[in-house]
Parts: sequence; structure tokens; C-alpha cells
Amino acid sequence: MADRPRFGPAGVPPLFRILGAKLSDVPGLLREEGLDAFEYQAVQWGQKPQIKQKDAENLGFEARKNDVLLSLHGSYYVNLCGEKEVVEASKRRLIACATAAQWMGAYVVVFHLGFYGRAEKKEAPRNCIDALRDIIETMNSLGIQKVKLGPETMGKHFQLGTLDEVLTICEEVEQTQLVIDWAHLHARYRGRFKKVDDFRAVVEEVERRLGTEAVRNMHCHFAKIEFTDKGERRHHVLDEARYGPDFQMLAEVIAEFNLRPVIICETPILDIDAMKMRDTLRKVTKKQSNPASEHS
Ligand SMILES: [Zn+2]
Repeated sequence: MADRPRFGPAGVPPLFRILGAKLSDVPGLLREEGLDAFEYQAVQWGQKPQIKQKDAENLGFEARKNDVLLSLHGSYYVNLCGEKEVVEASKRRLIACATAAQWMGAYVVVFHLGFYGRAEKKEAPRNCIDALRDIIETMNSLGIQKVKLGPETMGKHFQLGTLDEVLTICEEVEQTQLVIDWAHLHARYRGRFKKVDDFRAVVEEVERRLGTEAVRNMHCHFAKIEFTDKGERRHHVLDEARYGPDFQMLAEVIAEFNLRPVIICETPILDIDAMKMRDTLRKVTKKQSNPASEHS
């Protein structure tokens, strides 16, 4: 949970890799850029943590020292509404992710709910809710109480993860964290965010369903996105004017509602665009708190 809006990259930025940075160097390098969040990518993981406990703890130590808030993106190989064996394996994968999140002090495991498959669309969230309750119970029996599970809004039509589904799951399951991927919502609804009001509508819906604390503490992913009729196609950098959504519009709403989201940048130039979003929000906040300065 963030004390202020925080910005950071989804994974280690390309330049850090070129510099030969170790994982434990990442928080310090982000701090030098004035960034204060980092989403560790566990997206290829199987049923066991694929990081050593010591390395995870070192990352956590450096993150706290440099005031970088950690989250962890869980395995892509999760489907909570598939066949029984698939769901059971998915549960073990998410528990492996939660275990590593606990080691590093990450506050949330972001994850994708899965696919509709043969299940009736309206039954799918119910299946996820049952599976998530089991996972949380196991996590708690392992002493993992501080890590939340974060179902993410998804960009393709065959994936579970409409805004409504994610909100329903967050209403029903304790220890969950709302994750809004704005690009995914944009793609899923063929360009949903055209004006500030379109962003405001989502924020108001979240507040109505989950309350003020939840809306203030949204965990967000942001990128420009290209889409087809089937939904999301590819992420683009913020400067790509051809694609939406426009971060400036979201920034207006963040400032207006005094939100303090964690915003993870998923464009191809991770940290660079994270800094750009941070600067945009700063400008918008300043302008809103002192509208006269516009004319000076
Ligand atoms: Zn994701």
C-alpha cells in the first residue's frame, strides 16, 4: 500500500541489464532515477519459487533501504477456472509466488485469472473465488498474511478479467488487491478511454463497489496499447501518439480524487516512461492545486 502515488517499471529496465546490474542493485538505481516502485517478474515460474530465498531477501532489504515498494507479477501459467488438475497446479504456482513475495516483502502478487474455456461465462468468477479462498487459506497456514493476491483486468476477450469480474472477486475474497491494467481495459473495449470522464467513470465504479480505501490504493499497470477486434495486440511507448490510452487524462483523475496508486509501467522502455508518467502527474497536480499559475 502506497503512502503517495508511486511509479516504477515492470521488471529490470533494459539499460540496467546492459550496465550488468545485479537484482539487488535495482532498487538503488531506481532511486537514482527518482522512481519508487518495482514489479519483480515471476511470470515464467512453475510450482516452486525460482529465486533463492537469500536473493529475494537481499532485494527486499535494498528496496526498503531505497524506499522502493515491491510487487511481484505472478506466473502466466495460472488458470483458476480450468479443469481440476489445471486449477490445482495453478494454486501451487500462486503459492510459490506468494512465498517469494513474502521473502522479498512484496505487498501483492499480481496475476491473471485465466480463461473462460468450457465454463459458462457467468460461472467463471465463482470458480475463481473458490480457488482463491483455498489459496489464501494455504498462504495463511504457511504464515503468509501480509501478501495480497491481485487479480488483474485483462485485455483479450477469452480471458477472465473484465472490470466487473475483478471487482466481484475483490468484493468476495479477503486479502485481495485490485489491479487495474488501464491498457488492457482500453483494448478490451476497443478504445474505451477517450476523455477524462472515461477514466473518472472507472474510478467512481471502483469506489462504489470497493470503497474509498480501495480506490485510493489501486495497483495499476499502464502502457500505450494496440488492439484488434479480439482485444490487446501489443504494448507501445507513451510517445506513440497513434495509440491510447493517454496517461495525462488518468493523471487528472488521480489528482482530482487525491489517489495514491502504485503505477507500474509496462511500455517497452519501462523506467523511462515511468519517469515520464511521474512528471506528468506532478505537473497536473500542481496545476490543479494552483490553477492561476497556468496564466502566469
Ligand atoms: Zn499482467
